[in-house]
Formats: sequence, structure tokens, C-alpha cells
Amino acid sequence: MKYVIIGGVAGGATAAARLRRISEDAEVVLFEKGEYISYANCGLPYYIGGAISDREKLFVQTPEAFGRRFNIDVRTLSEVIKIDRDAKNVTVRTATGKEYTESYDRLLLSPGASPVRPPLPGIDSEGIFTLRNVADTDAIKGFISQSRPANAVIIGAGFIGLEMAENLHDAGLQVAVVEMANQVMAPIDFSMASIVHEHLLAEGVQLYLEKAVESFKKTDAGIEVKFKSGESITTDMVILSIGVRPNTSLAVDAGIELGPMRGIRVNEYLQTSDPDIYAVGDAIEYPHPISQQPWLNYLAGPANRQARIVADNMVFGNKQTYEGSIGTSVAKVFDLTVAATGLPAKRLKQMGVEYLSATIHPNSHAGYYPGATPMTIKVVFSPADGMLLGAQIVGYDGVDKRIDEFALVIKRGGTVEDLQKIEQAYAPPYSSAKDPVAVAGYVASNILSGNMDPLYWREMRDADPTKVAIVDVRTADEFALSSIPGAINVPLDDMRQRMAQLPIDRPLYLYCGVGLRGYLASCILRQNGFKKVRNLVGGLKLYKTATAILPTPKGFDTPSANDRIDAAPSRTVKVDACGISCPGPILKLKNNIDAIAEGEVLEVTATDPGFPRDAEAWCKSTGNRFVSATSNAGLHTVVVAKGSTSTKGPVEVDTEKGKTFILFSDDLDKALATFVLANGAAATGKKVTIFFTFWGLNAIKKERKPAVKKDFFGRMFSFMLPSNSKKLKLSKMSMGGLGGKMMRHIMKKKNVDSLESLRAQAIENGVEFIACQMSMDVMGVTREELLDEVAIGGVAAYMDRAENANVNLFI
Ligand SMILES: Cc1cc2nc3c(=O)[nH]c(=O)nc-3n(C[C@H](O)[C@H](O)[C@H](O)COP(=O)(O)OP(=O)(O)OC[C@H]3O[C@@H](n4cnc5c(N)ncnc54)[C@H](O)[C@@H]3O)c2cc1C
Repeated sequence: MKYVIIGGVAGGATAAARLRRISEDAEVVLFEKGEYISYANCGLPYYIGGAISDREKLFVQTPEAFGRRFNIDVRTLSEVIKIDRDAKNVTVRTATGKEYTESYDRLLLSPGASPVRPPLPGIDSEGIFTLRNVADTDAIKGFISQSRPANAVIIGAGFIGLEMAENLHDAGLQVAVVEMANQVMAPIDFSMASIVHEHLLAEGVQLYLEKAVESFKKTDAGIEVKFKSGESITTDMVILSIGVRPNTSLAVDAGIELGPMRGIRVNEYLQTSDPDIYAVGDAIEYPHPISQQPWLNYLAGPANRQARIVADNMVFGNKQTYEGSIGTSVAKVFDLTVAATGLPAKRLKQMGVEYLSATIHPNSHAGYYPGATPMTIKVVFSPADGMLLGAQIVGYDGVDKRIDEFALVIKRGGTVEDLQKIEQAYAPPYSSAKDPVAVAGYVASNILSGNMDPLYWREMRDADPTKVAIVDVRTADEFALSSIPGAINVPLDDMRQRMAQLPIDRPLYLYCGVGLRGYLASCILRQNGFKKVRNLVGGLKLYKTATAILPTPKGFDTPSANDRIDAAPSRTVKVDACGISCPGPILKLKNNIDAIAEGEVLEVTATDPGFPRDAEAWCKSTGNRFVSATSNAGLHTVVVAKGSTSTKGPVEVDTEKGKTFILFSDDLDKALATFVLANGAAATGKKVTIFFTFWGLNAIKKERKPAVKKDFFGRMFSFMLPSNSKKLKLSKMSMGGLGGKMMRHIMKKKNVDSLESLRAQAIENGVEFIACQMSMDVMGVTREELLDEVAIGGVAAYMDRAENANVNLFI
């Protein structure tokens, strides 16, 4: 039997190898129009970015080695240009233009897909690329090394577009992503994509959403990419990544049937409308197992699986059936991992299918073991029977293994109950005893059983506060920091006492940070007669991300003469700020920039993920130049060039925009927050004052105090109050002082500075400490008992500082 295969990469090469393994005497001829076979097309973006440095590593097999090992007649640079089904032969054109025919008994089509290049004006200009194969890769890589582009525009924000955004960024280019839809990554829902939007912006990627490209024009300044909205962006290079189309022209010319999606139609044996011709990979369409509708699926895993099935069917007759793919996919987007399987909610909505969804924000592993990172999981399921229809995850570690578990349950037709039955291996460095997949199952089951009435972020956004009561069940402190407009605050712990304040006749829309406290509050309320209680799915965390208004993109920076750093700066100073938490890295940045000369460069590496964003904001307010931020394996490296107007130290403060804090409380957590904020503000060169009043005085008492004379009440207060900052207790979960000790222990383990160290840093950074004279008198505190750096003042002293400040916080 003679088998001819068209296409020598994922589907074609896999089928050829399988054919040989199951039939030693088969004759197998493999035609590939390119120069290479069986190469790692999924690795191409990483070679462009430099993560894969050795080009040879892209080639899994050379045509010669593959041909020898599997005894296959591999013919590269050979394009099949015609199939004659009656004569059962194909016409082949070689690179030299020679044409010949080759007969077959069974033919396999695995010609893949081609990038879409719409006929827009200027699309063939130099510097506009697509990425599909090695030749495209070499062209892009060659352009970068020869023309040294400073920036690139990626058109299309699918998986490959975003992989290219990251890799071009890694190659040193500024990157803008242009997308016609209102979100990146079509296989996930908007709320999940909004997490990716935030991350792309944090990495410095310019995001142009809902922009359709109208034309390209080569100008002296570069390529002008014009949008239908009238705006434009000028760039040095363009990557078109707006999708692919199945390569079907050979099949069409031969009269082989296509399906409604314009892919090659195949049956469950992967056989085309011609019984002697089979097809696999990107070129075919196949019913989606959930929707049952035909769809095109461009993924390497399914192509490989189909190739194995088809080889068996071509040799042994049609015995193996293909069950279809549910589109399980994963992509690295800078530091994020984005994964999806099954159908997203938006697709189900389009199809008119009823669904429910649950969104949770678990950690990758036990929070108490170092290095746990957050992830957001959304599951979509049927309200009728809980059948799992789709899952999406955006996070850092452990996303890939979870998405595979969801995929397995969906492929088996499982339900949200089945998610709870998976038996996961657990140890603190890898997971939690309640694995995120199980938690997703628990939350979804609560929704399904009616234990929790879900409220989705769009419903909350569109809620009319005159018709519903929006209730924030977080603590008063959390509520004070930010809340949903119109919300009233009834903390979960006060709910039983205060529920009488809530209207019984209006629906209650509850929310908390991530959804858990809202659920607990809804249980209390429902069991106390409140009928219409709904809880915001994914909590405020998801709501804020999904409703965030993205900044208007500004185009690429053109470095001005003032801004430009010398090609070879006189000195780069490296600073290690790893293992310390906010505001430690910023303080290190500030202290070290003070020690270098104008034009010199500081490179600070930290593990605090918020550091790059803080550093950029700090540079803006201090006149230093934020050169770059890169992240790799949890290490965030920020490069800053010292500017001519750089703040020199705490003396040169901007008194016009100072910050004041009134520390009224002696709760350990509130005192900590005060010093952290004060240090952060001081690092930006602002005049910062902390006014210590009443219980707050306990945060600035000396540990070793001289003996002082006190009256009876003074002695009573001394006896009852904490004698110094080390004796402060937590505002919540104090447990007779045990909570405070636990907090200090955890802070130490996580390398968070102690209260005393943060206080010393504040003094060093020029933060002004004023003790309230009146409070000292009332509480019998004397000057000698307070730290030497503390000044004594009254209301006037505070008001004077507050007048010149634009932030005044009472803690
Ligand atoms: C940059 C990039 C990154 C990707 N990353 C991922 C990823 O991370 N994960 C994932 O699952 N998938 C990824 N994919 C998709 C995956 O590579 C494809 O789904 C898979 O390769 C499809 O296999 P195929 O055999 O159908 O087509 P291909 O692997 O594209 O092979 C088709 C071959 O057929 C040849 N050919 C076409 N017509 C003819 C002809 N007439 N005569 C001779 N030869 C012909 C072509 O030259 C081509 O080499 C990526 C794709 C690209 C381009």
C-alpha cells in the first residue's frame, strides 16, 4: 500500500511516523513545500524573543534523519499543486519549477492554515510581517537585527499575537497591540481578559482595543498604521496576527467537500468526502463536542492526536473514531499564564444556551508556604444538571495543571460535582488541601443548589441603588479605602446585630473582597427572612478589574534629547532588593539614587510584584527617568536613570503636596499601615507628617523609659496601656496578644519589616512625628517616655501641615 502525505509538520510528520510503526512494508511519501519538516512552530515566537537562543533547537528532526529512521521518502521544497482523484495521483512542483506526478493508494492532507492578510492599502509595505513558519521567523529576526526597530505594532490580540508582544518586548522593542474586539484573547470571557489587560499595561504594552485597521502607509518616520476611527500610530515594524484560514485550495480544486466553516469536512474517522483521502490538523473542521456545531480548531495537540488515529484508520480500515476537541489551550503572556477549555460564557450566550458561572480567586498553593501566587478561575456550567461547559484560568503558577483537570472533566461529560471528587496530590509547596479545582466545584455547587444566588459584575454595575440595597460586608477600614458607589457598609461580623438596618422589601446586592464573606453574609440573611439576597461573584476584585477604564494609549515615546540616556552610561549600580516587601524596594531605590550622580543608572531587582509599577510612579514624581522594567521567574528588575531634577533627600521636600496621617489607634495592624504609607510617600520626596493622638501615642513610646513622676491617673493609664510598640495588639483576632505575635512571626518569615524598623525608616526618611499635647496630658504620657525624634504639638501644628497637604488620613 502506498501512502502519500501532504504537509510535513505537526499532523503530517506524526502520521508518517505512526504509519511506519504500524506497517513496516508500507510505502510512505511525505511532501513538504517548505525546507523543514517536524519543526517546533509553537516555539517560533520564543526564538524571536531570545528565550530560545539556538535556532537548531527548533528542528525536532532533519528531513534526512527522519527519513532514515522511519524509512520514509521525505521530499522537502516540494509543493503538491494538484490532486487527481480519478487517476489517484498528485502533481508536485519542486523548488526548481520541475513538475511531476506521484501516485497514491491513500492520501493524507495535513496542509495546515495560512495567516489572514486582508487586502488593505499598504499591507505589502516593507516591515509588515506574519508568523507561521521558519521562513517568516528568519525574516522577522533578520529585520530586527538589521533595521534595529525601536517599536512594533502587533495587530490581533490572540494567543500568537500576545506571545509576539512579549517576545518583541523581550527583544528590546516598545510594543503596541491593536485589537478589533473589546478584549484580548477571544477564547476567554471579558472579565478574565481584563486581568490580562491590566498585566499588559503594567508591562508597558500599549493597548488599542476596539480599533480596526484601515490602511498602512510607509513614511519617513516609519509605517503609519491608520485606524477606521481616524487615529493612527507610527511604528518601525508590524506583525499581523489577525487569524488564520485553513489551506483548502487543493481540496477544493479536487472537488473534496468543505464544511460550513470552510474547513475540509471529515467524518469521525477523519475521512474526507473521498474515501481514499483523509485529512487532519488546522485544515479540517469538526463538530465541537459541547456545541455540536462544526468549528475550526488550530491547536497542535489535536493535530497530533488526529494524525495517530488517521494512520491507524488508513492502514487497518476505519476503526478508530475521533471525539473532537474542546479547545484546551494555554499561553504565557509575560508573567501571566492564561488558559481555557470548553466554551466561554459569551459563546454560550451567542448560541442561546442557558448557563451559570462561578469565579474564584484561590492561591496556587498554601498561602503560608512561600511563593504562593494568586489565580482567578471561572467555571461555566449548565443550570439544568451542573454539567461543566467551560473553564478559564488566569494566574501564575499551577494554572496549566488545573486547566487540564477541568478539560478532563468536560471531555468526560462531567459536572461541577465531579470537580469535587478529583483526588489531587497535596503538599503545601504545590497546592492546598482544598485544591482550587475543588473550590471551584464547591462554589459552583452552591450556586447550582440555590444556596447562593449569584450576582454577576455587569448586574452590579447596572444596579439602580434606589431599587436595590448594595451592601458591602467587608470591614469598615476596607470600605473606607474603596467601595462601590451607593453601597452601605455592614461588616460580616456585625451582620447578626445590624441586619435590622437592611431593607426587607428590596433585593440586597452583597459584595466583599473575593466573594466568600458575601456568601457567608447571604447565608445569615436568608436564614433570617431576607428573601432576595444576591452575592457578587468574584467579589470586588473581579468587579474592579472588569469595570476598570483603560488608559488611552499614547503611541510610542520618542526619546527627547533631555530624556535620552547616554549610549554607554558612565556607571550602572546594581541593587538587590529581593525578599523585602513594599515599601522596602522603593526606599532602597530612593536611598541608592541619592548616592549616584546625574546620568548614572540604577538597576534594582526585587521580588515584590508591585515594585515596577511603584517605581514608575516614583520616577514620575521625582524627576528621575524610568528606563525599563523586566520580569523573569518572579524577579522584577527596574532600571532608573538619575535625572537632573532628582530629589536629593528628605530635606528637599515638596511642601505643596504633603501628606498627613493622624494615628489615633494603637492597633498593631493600623500602626503598621501608617508607617508603610508614610514611608512610601516620603520616598517620593513629599513632606510627610504623622500626628500621634490618644491611643496612637503608644506607637512612639520608648522601649526603655526613664523613671518619671506621675499622678494617680497617669500611673493607672501606664498600668493599663501598652508600655511600648512591641506590646501593641491586632485590631482583629488579637486572641489575648497571640494574634499580634503571629503577625510579627509571619512578617518576619515573609521579610516584611517590623513595626519598629518601619518607624526607624520613617524617621530616617524625614517623616515628621508630632505627638498631640492634649492627648499626652489626658493620658498622663510625658515627653521623656516618647522617642527623642518626636516633636510635641497641638491642633494648630497639625492643621498647618494639613493645609499644605493633598492627602490627609485618619487611622
Ligand atoms: C507561531 C505559532 C505558535 C503556535 N503555538 C501553539 C501553541 O503554543 N500551542 C498549540 O497547541 N498550537 C500552537 N500553534 C498551532 C499549531 O502549530 C498548529 O495547530 C499545528 O501545527 C497544526 O498542524 P498541521 O499539520 O495542521 O499544520 P502545520 O503544522 O502548519 O503543517 C502544515 C504544513 O503543510 C505544508 N503544506 C501546505 N500546503 C502544502 C502543499 N500543497 N504541498 C506541500 N506542503 C504543503 C506547509 O508548508 C506546512 O509546513 C502555533 C502556531 C504558530 C504558527
